[in-house]
Amino acid sequence: MSENCIFCKIVAGTIPVKRVYEDEVVLAFPDIAPQAPVHVLVIPKRHMASLAALTEADRGEMGHWLERLSHVARLLGVDEAGYRTIINTNAHGGQEVFHLHGHILGGRPMGPMVAR
Ligand code: 5GP
Ligand code: ZN
Repeated sequence: MSENCIFCKIVAGTIPVKRVYEDEVVLAFPDIAPQAPVHVLVIPKRHMASLAALTEADRGEMGHWLERLSHVARLLGVDEAGYRTIINTNAHGGQEVFHLHGHILGGRPMGPMVAR
């Protein structure tokens, strides 16, 4: 747990969220400011600041995370029509919360990959 990390507080239950999916490694919950009809965040429970911080030691945990992200998209019913998965990293990536998270966005066509 990292002090003052909002997602660590969500993992700990200090900030309540609807737990869409949870196991010992990952937690999925709705984004507070949804950008699409379906907008869910999937995070590793362990604090990791960003994708840029990963090392070889994280391979197993990150494999679990990505497979469960796919599972959560199935639970949400967006897998067949499709969805956008976003991982924003550091300043140029537009990262706002520095606890690694993947966005699942769906429920409508998500448009061009990046803003022009
Ligand atoms: P980032 O730009 O870091 O990839 O996105 C962070 C996301 O976290 C944003 O989409 C924002 O709406 C969401 N978020 C920030 N604070 C909270 C919160 O307290 N609860 C929830 N559920 N989502 C949050
Ligand atoms: Zn954290």
